[in-house]
Amino acid sequence: MGERLAGRCLCGACTFTAEPAKEAGICHCSMCRRWSGGMFMGVDCGSSLEFAEGAPVVAYRSSEWGRRLFCGQCGSTLAWQMADGSHSHVSMQSFDDPGAFIVASEIFIDEKPANYALANQTTKMTGAEVLAMFAAQPGGDQ
Ligand SMILES: [Zn+2]
Ligand SMILES: [Zn+2]
Repeated sequence: MGERLAGRCLCGACTFTAEPAKEAGICHCSMCRRWSGGMFMGVDCGSSLEFAEGAPVVAYRSSEWGRRLFCGQCGSTLAWQMADGSHSHVSMQSFDDPGAFIVASEIFIDEKPANYALANQTTKMTGAEVLAMFAAQPGGDQ
């Protein structure tokens, strides 16, 4: 975590600040792809995500342990959170400067459709590898 950075949804009704990690991770799982309309490019912001007061943020509980935040007005993908809201992976593309992050990893690579691939050099993990990692260290993903 470092500097506090700003971002917003497409319509601007949801603005936020957070202290993101320098590296972004991509998730190719089917849930993230349906939700985001692409691959979800997320930045770990720990517990630092703060929306402006009155922002029409909606939380969709997508699994036992996670929920997904979006703008109730324009539908923009904003963040994946642990179900209790304690930890957030914020959409890299919602930051004012998405180019500021290093795209370092890709997870659920085995669920990626075969018709595209990134040219970046990244650390790749399958869904099974990710789940095994989170089982070993609670506070997981999805
Ligand atoms: Zn919006
Ligand atoms: Zn995912």
